[in-house]
This record gives sequence, C-alpha cells and structure tokens, in this order.
Amino acid sequence: MTSRRPLVMIPGPVEVSPAVREAYAAPPPGHLAPELIEAFGASIEMLRRVWLAPASSQPFIVPGSGTTAMETAVQNTVEPGDTVIVVNTGYFSDRLAEMLRRAGAAVVELTAIPGEVPNPSRAQGAFEDVARTGRRVKALLATHVDTSTGAMCDPRPLAALARERGALSIFDGVCATAAERFEMDAWGADVYLTASQKAIGLPAGLALLVASDRALAARDARSVAPPLSLDWHAWRPIMQAYEARKPAYFATPPTNLVLALAAGLAEILRGGMEERFALHQRGARAMRAAWSALGLHHVPARPDHRSVTLSALRFPPRVDATLVSRIAERGVLVAGGLHPTIRSEYFRVGHMGYALTRPDFLMRTVEAVAGGLASFGHAADAEGAVSAMLRALQS
Ligand code: PMP
Repeated sequence: MTSRRPLVMIPGPVEVSPAVREAYAAPPPGHLAPELIEAFGASIEMLRRVWLAPASSQPFIVPGSGTTAMETAVQNTVEPGDTVIVVNTGYFSDRLAEMLRRAGAAVVELTAIPGEVPNPSRAQGAFEDVARTGRRVKALLATHVDTSTGAMCDPRPLAALARERGALSIFDGVCATAAERFEMDAWGADVYLTASQKAIGLPAGLALLVASDRALAARDARSVAPPLSLDWHAWRPIMQAYEARKPAYFATPPTNLVLALAAGLAEILRGGMEERFALHQRGARAMRAAWSALGLHHVPARPDHRSVTLSALRFPPRVDATLVSRIAERGVLVAGGLHPTIRSEYFRVGHMGYALTRPDFLMRTVEAVAGGLASFGHAADAEGAVSAMLRALQS
C-alpha cells in the first residue's frame, strides 16, 4: 500500500519531514495540555521570526486553510464602503477580489495577462486615481505567489507605496511564506498570511497570519464587528495567553497540527531565514535547469516573475493535459493547469520545503516528467535533465 503512494510534488499539500510526521502522529493532546501550550506558545514566537516581523506584531494560528486566512485578513481590516486596490496576478487574486467585494468594498483591480505581474507604477497610478475622486484607499492587497501561474509579485515596493499613502498592505503568502523572501518589519507590510500545507511543510488545516499594529488598529476602529469565528478581538487574547504559556480557549485548535507546527517552524529556523531562502533559490534553479534540458517553457515569461516554490510549464507541441496522468503512472503527482484562461495549456510542479532537502525526490520528479514527455514522442533526455538538475543543486 505505502509503496504505491506517489511522491506528492503538487504546489501543496507537500511532502512533510519525518519530524513533522512524528509530531502529527502523536496521541492527540487536549487543548489545555502542557505540551500543547508549550508548542502553541513557541509557534507564536517562531512565526514572528519566520515572517521577520516586529515584536509589536500579533501572530494568529487558527483552524482553517489559506482561504480562512484570507477571509480573516479581509474581514478584520476592510469595512463596507472602503476602497481597496488588488494587484491581480491570477486565480487566487480573483478570489481575494471576490472576498473584498462581498465584504462591501469598492475594488480597484490591476490585472495582467496570465504569468505576468502588474508594474508597481500602475498601483501608484491607482492611488492617484482614487485620491482624485476624494476617497482614500484603505488597503492594497496582492498575492505574493499566484499558484495558478507561478507568478511572483514582489511585495516590497507595494508595501512601501501603501505605507507612503497611508493604506494597509496585505499579502497572500500561501504559496510563498517561508520560501520566497519576505521581510515584514523592514518592508513595513501589515498582514502576511499563509496556510500550513505549503512551504511551512505541514498537512493542511491551519490558517497562519501575522498582523502589524496598524492592521490591529484597523480592526479596533471598525464600527461593526467581523464574524465571531474570524474576529481578532476573539482570537488575540488566546494568542497572548498561549504566548505567556497559559491555557486558553475560544475555539478548539487542531492540537496535533499545532504540535507539528512547532516541529516544522523549528526546522525552518534551524539555519536561519537567509539559509531558508537560499535553499529555495537553489532548489528552483535546479528544477529550472532540468526543465530547460527537457525543452520546457515557463508560463511566467520573465525570469524575475518566476516563483521559487513551483514551476508552471507549458505543454510542448503534441503534448496534452494527459501528461499529468502519465507522470502519475510513473509514481509522481504533479498538478494540471488552474488559471481559467490557459488551463489546458500547462502543468505545475511544486518544489518547496522538505522535498528540497531530498535530491532523490527531485530526481524522481524530473525522471517522471521526462518519461511522461517521452511517452508522447517528445525528445526528452532524462539523464541530461537529471544531471543538469544535480549540478545546479550543488552549485
Ligand atoms: N492563495 C494561494 C496563493 C493559494 O495557493 C491557495 C491554495 N492553493 C489559497 C490562497 C487558498 O488556500 P486553501 O486552499 O488552503 O484554502
């Protein structure tokens, strides 16, 4: 049974480390058990370090997925009638914009063709356009890595712009956090959110975010409270209690996931965040070297728009979407296209977290992709691709 389990190389959920698996498999502790309180408190402290966030920021660890984290950020900071700007890079930015509209916001969307990223100067123009109408922008939102195309949007200039204009900056880091560089404090970002099942390296089930004091103040200033289960006023005292190593209850946390979170964050921080970012840079370089040897082209045309966490690759001529199942037949799970306008034209391979410490996983992935391509008659030099990958991994 286990020998037939495919290697999971989709852009989340991901393969998890033995330490994370062991913590997750422990007999479930109660939410007030001493070991749970310690794991929770330590995780809150470690979240600030992984996010490179200031001491004044508040981490939140709540049950849910990335969508819950997005909804939490939106519902606590944005009120009906607010104007917001969304730098839209694909499927998950569309979701963010839809959430904002449902929260009653007027949404200014900056769009780009799939794989491209709107230039920050367009966001500046949008601020000016809104100012001319006598309104102010409450928040600027962007998806750090849009998993539907693999497009990476640099949060740094956007966070600076929002600061300068007195707006909050909110970033969806679901497919980026703990892999792509993000410096919450130095860049002045207000909310950075993710989920447990991507570069954090856990199974799915936790929504993770860190809010700046300005974001927390936006919640305090709301005239109407957000839905109770998402409300920072309900969750913050719980986070503060756990950080002080005291028991607390608002809604039951997935206790095994919290144990796994403490193990996963400790692994991420072992070498420090610079080493963590470098691991992903190197891993991405290695996978790109393999794709190039196989004659594959990326959905993001510009190299500086390609994320380190996944590759979105166009099908070469005469290859179609059955490539994904042909790769699965070779023991590796990759993902199909997701962006609605180009869905049938490409596939996606995740490369984040624990898998990057396992050259054997990366080799199996490259071999399976090469084998899948060869089954269409596409000239695919598997050996050449694997050695290009290994060379880049060691450089
Ligand atoms: N944002 C991004 C960038 C994502 O990749 C995903 C999930 N793939 C989400 C949001 C939604 O997260 P979830 O599926 O955990 O709700």
